Amino acid sequence: MRAYQRLLQYVKYDTTSDENAPESVCPSTAGQKKLAAALAEEMRRLGMAEVRMDPHGYVYASLPADCAEPQPVIGLIAHMDTSFSAPGKNVRPRIVRGYDGGDIVLNAEKGIVMHPSEFGSLADDKGMDLIVTDGTTLLGADDKAGIAEILTTVEALAEKHVPHGKIAVAFTPDEEIGRGAERFDIPGFGADFAYTVDGGKLGQLEYENFNAASADVTVKGFSIHPGDAKNRMKNAVLLGIEFNSMLPPAETPAHTEGREGFYHLMSFSGDEEGAVLRYIVRDHDCPRFEARKARLRKIAAYLNEKYGARFTVDLRDSYYNMKEKIEPHIEIVERAEAAMRAAGVEPRIVPIRGGTDGAFLSCRGLPCPNLPTGGHNFHGRFEYIPVQAMDKMVEVLVNLVRAPAEGREKTKGH
Ligand SMILES: [Zn+2]
Repeated sequence: MRAYQRLLQYVKYDTTSDENAPESVCPSTAGQKKLAAALAEEMRRLGMAEVRMDPHGYVYASLPADCAEPQPVIGLIAHMDTSFSAPGKNVRPRIVRGYDGGDIVLNAEKGIVMHPSEFGSLADDKGMDLIVTDGTTLLGADDKAGIAEILTTVEALAEKHVPHGKIAVAFTPDEEIGRGAERFDIPGFGADFAYTVDGGKLGQLEYENFNAASADVTVKGFSIHPGDAKNRMKNAVLLGIEFNSMLPPAETPAHTEGREGFYHLMSFSGDEEGAVLRYIVRDHDCPRFEARKARLRKIAAYLNEKYGARFTVDLRDSYYNMKEKIEPHIEIVERAEAAMRAAGVEPRIVPIRGGTDGAFLSCRGLPCPNLPTGGHNFHGRFEYIPVQAMDKMVEVLVNLVRAPAEGREKTKGH
């Protein structure tokens, strides 16, 4: 079976996760467990061992070693849920065979068209068979393509008699709402190191992500009849504006890229009596990340001095850059680079401007860089993936877990 055939099966399941579900509920939506059960069944059919689904919908399985020499246990991870940013129900995928490089009409009736001028990746995918949506839903290649590629790899290892060490496989719920790594059973998984297969473009290899925090700035005002307000009113909305104006104007998402960090004002609500500014703070660099948080506190301290204690800053760290945790094990990144090159794919290391389950897992002690799936335009109606990119990723994953040949230097275990 080819990877894309699996993907076409998995996208029939509605697994949209729900960010508003209470933290105690996992998975956040029942549909995820249906896919989880189907995947557990499929892994049993593929002859995998230790197949189990836990009460939270995490699915684990392993493929026993098939190799004389001892090898490290390599983990492969993908997530089952899809983003809430676009509908994930009634996904009707279509394959555009031998893409001609022109416009793709996703939905003639609704006039939804994908133009190469708006989506630059299409130029590279000329001649490929593209799996697209009907323009009303996302596709769910993020991250069902990752699942499809991992299970097709498992199948290919047996078919092609590829020597490999023990492989641990896990599929997680609720990644898109940032909870996928929370209940992950690292000891039970038993991998020495792992890879999430959850990235985009072929060749992209990621092991750096943001350090992330949220900051809620609460402003207490003093309201009084505007006619009698001179020297007395403290309008919380205006104080909030003053707070924000003290942040560097160019350090926002709209002005930054690569490894540049930012403050992002996500919402601002209130009246004269009180106001709340909700920020997220991001930076790849740890000292600069700390400095950003310190700046928010300093601005509040300065304004509290000026107006009397009216500002409170509630800072919470969300996740950290995995780079620090990966660099001591850089050979696992090199292993992925070699696996890509052997499949004719040039690796490109890029910093993620976000987080991944792998970042959480790395911080919890399981080093876990992120590999691509080959898909594009995740989280929206223009999501698509080339069939051939999925085949390529299977080749990459087979190379990745293949035991080094006799006489070559062995990859160290940890
Ligand atoms: Zn994803």
